[in-house]
Amino acid sequence: MRIILSKEQIKGNRITLSGEKARYLISVLRCSAGDELQIFDGEGNLYKSKITGIENKKVIIDLLERISLNAESPLNLTLVQGILKGEKMDLVIQKSTELGIKEIIPAITERSQIRQTRKVDRWRKIAEEASKQSGRTIVPVVHEPIEFSSWLIAHSSQPIKGFIFWEEGGLPLRETIEKMQDTRYKMHDTREDLSNHPESCIMNPASLYLIVGPEGGFSKEEVSLSVSKGLVTVSLGKRILRAETASVSAVALIQFSLGDIE
Ligand code: SAH
Repeated sequence: MRIILSKEQIKGNRITLSGEKARYLISVLRCSAGDELQIFDGEGNLYKSKITGIENKKVIIDLLERISLNAESPLNLTLVQGILKGEKMDLVIQKSTELGIKEIIPAITERSQIRQTRKVDRWRKIAEEASKQSGRTIVPVVHEPIEFSSWLIAHSSQPIKGFIFWEEGGLPLRETIEKMQDTRYKMHDTREDLSNHPESCIMNPASLYLIVGPEGGFSKEEVSLSVSKGLVTVSLGKRILRAETASVSAVALIQFSLGDIE
């Protein structure tokens, strides 16, 4: 059985729980003395514990061992998401946080129906909550919205590493990743200096941008500007996905191919 407690609630070797959490343990999980319990503190620690007694709606727990979990992907993924209507943005922030995103940049694109928002604080709260729930040690940064083409143009010195997801074209994702792997192996074989090949960096990336459009998708101009800035257009298959499906799938697939989903 597993529960989440705040760091303040986990002090010393023995804790006494009362209130909501105790009720949950007694009535919902039907715990009794002797049961083993896994306690997460939402900051990357797991405490192996044992219930030693239940009395007067209170649960007494002995903490036996603390294990530090590293739930962070070595891959720093930033999701640039065309702002979505209604609660869809909430969903994207929550799910991409569970999947290990490091930063989220809400973007105003040519076809965005939402061109200003007062929801940034709300999105930050959602990221914080989802990060805690999923046992992560960091909370993804939710940036203030940017204007997409200005953001692209502002990157002038170095190519932007990452993918723009485009349903109207773009290489299949698997092919893109294999091609990049291939280039890298070839260069490795010939002992060529990898730093001469910027495209190879994408294969051993510390950081990658994933760019997904709003409900109406990207314009051709936005796609070609992105490509001119170094981004690679990729497709998620022949079906057109809702933007929120595209984002969640994109993060999962990239964590699988290049990150920490094995
Ligand atoms: N303009 C389209 C739908 C856009 S879907 C239409 O209405 O016909 C919203 C976003 O999801 C797109 O901008 C893209 O980033 C992503 N997306 C959806 N399906 C995709 C696919 N098959 N491949 C790649 N990206 C996709």
